[in-house]
Amino acid sequence: MKHLIVYCHPNPDSFNNAIVDAFIGSLKAKGHEVVVRDLYAMEFDPVLKGDDFEALREGNTPSDIKTEQEHVKWADAFTMVYPIWWTGLPALIKGYVDRVFSYGFAYAYGEDGNIRKLLAGKKGLIINTHGTPAEIYSKTGMYEGLTITSDTGIYEFCGIEPVGHLFFGSVPQIDDAARQEMLKEVKDKAVSLFE
Ligand code: FAD
Repeated sequence: MKHLIVYCHPNPDSFNNAIVDAFIGSLKAKGHEVVVRDLYAMEFDPVLKGDDFEALREGNTPSDIKTEQEHVKWADAFTMVYPIWWTGLPALIKGYVDRVFSYGFAYAYGEDGNIRKLLAGKKGLIINTHGTPAEIYSKTGMYEGLTITSDTGIYEFCGIEPVGHLFFGSVPQIDDAARQEMLKEVKDKAVSLFE
């Protein structure tokens, strides 16, 4: 299976980076093909500009968007890995979605007014870390909110089938053994989801 991982964290030694490494290790051990787009390392431009709208409308997709869309097209499975910042996607990866999942590429409106889901057939996974304890996010409904806005609002909107969403809470406060358990869960998930 062909996997595209879109990863967003400014620190190459972050725990999120360890998650990406663990996920890739498991996938490759199973013989999957993997491409990682490290948005900070690439210095991806997240700002959807007026010029982008015009170029997209005229069918002249800007080259940086086109490159990312080719990766999305290639993939059977699409995974985003990022920390929760202000209860959502960090601006850089939000901007990736704004620019890459463009009208006519990820979705379109049909003549009947209904949404055409142009990325149908792909599977989608999200892996998030956050600082708030998991019990608080469960109790307050934050997990449902994050799931609805990302899995439903982004993936399902474009036809990507959400196959999982891992949330790891209290990441900065817990000890190393607890974080190793989280990395094990990531590896196990890669195996159980993508045989
Ligand atoms: P890091 O800080 O990189 O690492 C955490 C710990 O893991 C460190 O001690 C590190 O040394 C250790 N580590 C690194 N690699 C490994 C490894 N291989 N094995 C074991 N340990 C390792 N949290 C919320 O809950 N809700 C919010 O709305 C929210 N908003 C935020 C907004 C901003 C702008 C910022 C900066 C943070 C926010 N946070 C929020 C907190 C944030 O989500 C967490 O700090 C983040 O998810 C932790 O993940 P990390 O990869 O950044 O951890």
